Amino acid sequence: MTKTILFDLTDAEREEFITQMGQPRFRAKQISEWLMRGAPNFSVMKNLPETLRAELDNVAQTLPVRIVKKLESSDGQTTKFLLELNDCEQIECVLMRTSYGNSVCVSSQAGCAMGCKFCASTLLGLKRNLTVNEIFAQILVAQWELRTDNFSSNPIRPNGDANNNDVSHIVIMGTGEPLQNVENVIGFIERANHDMGIGWRRITVSTCGIVPGIEELIKWGRPINLAISLHAPNDELRKKMMPIANKYSIREVMDAAWRFTDLHNRQLMIEYLLAGDKDGNLLNATPECANELAEILRGKNCMVNLIPWNAVAEREFTSPSGNAVHRFQDILIKNGVHARIRRERGNDIGSACGQLRLNNKKD
Ligand code: SAH
Repeated sequence: MTKTILFDLTDAEREEFITQMGQPRFRAKQISEWLMRGAPNFSVMKNLPETLRAELDNVAQTLPVRIVKKLESSDGQTTKFLLELNDCEQIECVLMRTSYGNSVCVSSQAGCAMGCKFCASTLLGLKRNLTVNEIFAQILVAQWELRTDNFSSNPIRPNGDANNNDVSHIVIMGTGEPLQNVENVIGFIERANHDMGIGWRRITVSTCGIVPGIEELIKWGRPINLAISLHAPNDELRKKMMPIANKYSIREVMDAAWRFTDLHNRQLMIEYLLAGDKDGNLLNATPECANELAEILRGKNCMVNLIPWNAVAEREFTSPSGNAVHRFQDILIKNGVHARIRRERGNDIGSACGQLRLNNKKD
């Protein structure tokens, strides 16, 4: 028998479900509170009678996701979850404890159709879009982890902040292309803002540059952060790395992106992966590329995140040397373009896009 997912029910439906089990109404409210805290099962719901918890366990489950694997980086700051959905598809989400708060990177699709040549997420193609609840549940998994952290054996945690145990930032930068699932992504962001009080400005959507999707965000009108995965300063090179470049030119993508950020007076984030080819020749990380990129971005309100390529065994790229990365950054900065090198978080636990899911499939 398939179990009812209580998180997927409306308040009224949950009440009906509980009263049909012969329980008083207020139990439904108690359960709802547990669900919003991310309770992974019923046994943690200590304010419910034990018999009810056991009964619920037979007929229902809490969230539409189940933790398959949980990996923690050696510094204790990053936790990566491999989650299973009800149709057995798997997705990843990552909790990053930072000096500015607790950030969660969520997936928007199971798999990805974009085919970027350097990425692990897309290797098995797109399975399906995630629902609003499946995206939201990833935040709740992280929230639960933060709240139960106090009992964890790992002593190294940032502290001093009263909201230390809450998710404060969301990046939609996990598996999938969020603007291919724009309706559910918007639905999710609205809920994260409304139900969890996470400010628009603490939420970032990262896209490979789906222009109609950016138009949707413009119409929607919320002042979230937008990140564009640019990765190359000209269309010719970009086409070699990202098939989407055959559909939308850099000019079209950037025009739409600037319109979005101008509307909200926000800084645009540019994701720029730095990679070499399989023989180690710099591909998009040459000084010429840096100069060309600076041409596009000079005088604009943006921040370039330089991401040295995270090795993916199935992909024929190489990571550039630290020198090459710093030289690239220097050129941008000399041209007046803000640029920082993305600190690699949780590298030891396979945090690069889609690696965990991919490796689990191979096991
Ligand atoms: N589809 C969206 C969001 C998911 S990818 C997008 O393209 O923005 C999140 C970011 O990780 C993107 O910038 C992506 O290009 C980058 N990425 C993918 N594989 C990577 C790898 N192996 N190393 C470093 N960054 C990678």
